[in-house]
Amino acid sequence: MSGFHTLDSADLKGKRVLVRVDLNVPVENGKVSDATRIERILPTLREIADKGGKVILLAHFGRPKGGPDEANSLRPIAAALAEHLGRPVAFASDCVGEPARAAIDRLAEGDFLLLENTRFHKGEEKNDPALVAELAALGDVYVNDAFSAAHRAHASTEGLARKLPAFAGRAMQAEIEALSKALDHPTRPLAAVVGGAKVSSKLELLGNLTKKVDFLIIGGGMANTFLAAQGRRVGKSLCENDLLATAREILNNAGANKCRIVLPVDVVVAKEFRAHSPSRVVGVDEVADDEMILDAGPRSVAEVEALLATVKTLVWNGPFGAFELEPFDAATNAVARDAARLTGEGKLLSVAGGGDTVSALNHAGVAEQFTYVSTAGGAFLEWLEGKVLPGVEALRA
Ligand code: AMP
Repeated sequence: MSGFHTLDSADLKGKRVLVRVDLNVPVENGKVSDATRIERILPTLREIADKGGKVILLAHFGRPKGGPDEANSLRPIAAALAEHLGRPVAFASDCVGEPARAAIDRLAEGDFLLLENTRFHKGEEKNDPALVAELAALGDVYVNDAFSAAHRAHASTEGLARKLPAFAGRAMQAEIEALSKALDHPTRPLAAVVGGAKVSSKLELLGNLTKKVDFLIIGGGMANTFLAAQGRRVGKSLCENDLLATAREILNNAGANKCRIVLPVDVVVAKEFRAHSPSRVVGVDEVADDEMILDAGPRSVAEVEALLATVKTLVWNGPFGAFELEPFDAATNAVARDAARLTGEGKLLSVAGGGDTVSALNHAGVAEQFTYVSTAGGAFLEWLEGKVLPGVEALRA
């Protein structure tokens, strides 16, 4: 990967390697309920160990209020990690100070150690130079494999990278490569699908994408605001009436940037927001006052599929409808499966991520068939917004 130091050029033998990872996994009844994030970092951890490094893991967990708190301890995660690695993982009850030093002194080449939640120190989120110095003293080399935390300039994500020889881990590398191919150096035509509930949470993203993509396909609740901005009646639909002017501006800017915005032409409407609520398919001009739009209709899906057949690159964030409620998952499922098919046939590079997107694609059963699915929420969205991610910047060669 040009422009970044990767593990290819890291001298790791006998080194104390501080590895920033994402272990912010969901836990239910003391058990990790989704180990995707653990799975993603295994190649990096194994490679460092195989090359003779002492693997010292740094991570945050939850949102502690700047002091130790049992509920946000990483201790149970060490056991889960050991299970997935098939190797023991030691644990230190503080990420700096005597507990960390003593545990690191005991490490042999190829051993693993997880340090306690970095956010138990107030200095972590402040990127405090004193904490950065304490952390840096524990290692010889720094590897960042946590793209999902790279939008924050914290001590363990940005500060450390400026203090020690810094390298992108394999998961970080894969993420940067996928996002660069999709958005910075795409093979055109390039399309983006942006769905989800609200325009308000995605204003910057839409603004940036209209400058970059050839087609911006808008779905989900946010499409309602655009339909209303075009003077259509959307009944009881989720709609941000205070953003109609903003939506019009986005439509106008897209035109000026030669970006074609694609909105639904037909929709599935119901009177209640619940699964299997009686529904009907109507044109976008035919929504009754007591109805709400819960999904895009079959003509809209056909239009999007015809468009996808002409593009080479696709970026996807957000569902087409209220996909958690059957049958209002139909458009999301259909378009996701079509994108997966085109990807499988080698006709499309597809990159998806952010928020509910991963669960929507899992729901459609096709997450594995996209070229790349990012598990990062905020960092993925900030990349789509065109923002500089400090944790990524700090890894540049
Ligand atoms: P986001 O987190 O912004 O990606 O939004 C995802 C959420 O948007 C999901 O929970 C969907 O159920 C919801 N959503 C999508 N389309 C609609 C719609 N037409 N009306 C209400 N909610 C929707």
